[in-house]
Amino acid sequence: LSQASGTPAAQARACALPNLWLPYCQMQTAPLPPTVSHTQGTSLFLADGQELTDGVASWWTACHGYNHPHLQQALLAQAGRMPHVMFGGLVHEPARTLAARLADLLPGELERVFFTDSGSVAMEVAAKIALQYHMNKARTGHDPQANQRRRLLSFRGGYHGDTMGMMAVCDPEEGMHALFGPALPSQILADLPTSPEKLVALESLLSTQGHEIAAMLVEPLVQGAGGMVFHPPEVLQTLRRLCDRHGILLVFDEIFTGFGRTGTLFACQQADVVPDIIALSKALTGGMLPLAATVARREIFDAFLSEAPEAALMHGPTFMANPLACAVANASLDLFAREPRLEQVAAISEQLREELAPCRTLPGVRDVRVMGAIGVVELEKLDNAPELGRRFMQEGVWIRPFRNIVYLTPAFTITPEQLRKLTAGLYRVLKAEL
Ligand code: PLP
Repeated sequence: LSQASGTPAAQARACALPNLWLPYCQMQTAPLPPTVSHTQGTSLFLADGQELTDGVASWWTACHGYNHPHLQQALLAQAGRMPHVMFGGLVHEPARTLAARLADLLPGELERVFFTDSGSVAMEVAAKIALQYHMNKARTGHDPQANQRRRLLSFRGGYHGDTMGMMAVCDPEEGMHALFGPALPSQILADLPTSPEKLVALESLLSTQGHEIAAMLVEPLVQGAGGMVFHPPEVLQTLRRLCDRHGILLVFDEIFTGFGRTGTLFACQQADVVPDIIALSKALTGGMLPLAATVARREIFDAFLSEAPEAALMHGPTFMANPLACAVANASLDLFAREPRLEQVAAISEQLREELAPCRTLPGVRDVRVMGAIGVVELEKLDNAPELGRRFMQEGVWIRPFRNIVYLTPAFTITPEQLRKLTAGLYRVLKAEL
């Protein structure tokens, strides 16, 4: 970044903020974050009166824009009836309806839904289900060798969450959790088979270690937090084939890609591949409330049915299947059914392709790529992402760069004019600052 962005010492720093401890933030050097007073549509309104057009949709969640009246009504109606009730030994209508609707929308026999309250935990549950599935198979004598399947395989550049279990399956070299590596259980990391050489390497790894692996975890089509890296649908077909051959469960982490972001309702549909387990969160409630779902194929669920209590799934977060969140998720699915969300994603995709293309000619830009409502400008390097973020704010746009990536993942309801404001602001700042 050039000096045009101002000398950091002259600005207030994040650590000047009393009491709060912020995520992913070196608070000594990061600029003081603004306070948001309210949201509306695709805008954030700051306490000082500034309006920012939102290019991030609150970490990729607010697919219908903020404060959508249909979601708000569902929330208020549910709040009047029953804001929360425990899910141990009790069930409720919003969760029953949501589970049925998800099973209906998901491909194949993905039909048993376990609700949690964050993406990381949805993936923890996916991993636990996979591990215990094999234990149950071994216990009943169906597959005595299955007891050896105690490890998880994940892919370089992948990101599945910040909990201890999920940090262990994030990329330890590139990822933000490298520091914790020595404290985590050792799992197996491979390259996605995006070239013949990488496929050979994966096949060879599986031929020696395949029998130890319970599940393969992958973000289909897009590795999000790992750098917005895209891979073709054929890669997922290859993984399905390899998992079938080696008796490994295939887990798709669609926490980012689910609900339209890549152009289809679920990314797996572009590959015509049905995973054994899928994890959903983020846009599940249209970004209004925390909720996540881990959905398993019928055959996986059946392996937990037994007279033996220990064959049951031992997991149960206090706030799982929160009725408010389930009601809002049901309302969000109404909007997917009645409003042209996927058509909106296709139009956003086209506009992003056209309007981000000029960034290719800027010095310091390594790549520009678009998939669905995801537009990515990859830089050669970016030394001070928070400072660049501050420059975007001066342009009236909320864009939050990370590592060497500047990206747009707007709400699907964004107008062409608002999107144009984002792409133009992005271009102007990069042109001035790179
Ligand atoms: N998996 C993927 C693909 C994600 O993008 C994220 C969050 O960005 C997570 C898991 C973790 O979700 P959460 O932050 O809700 O725990």
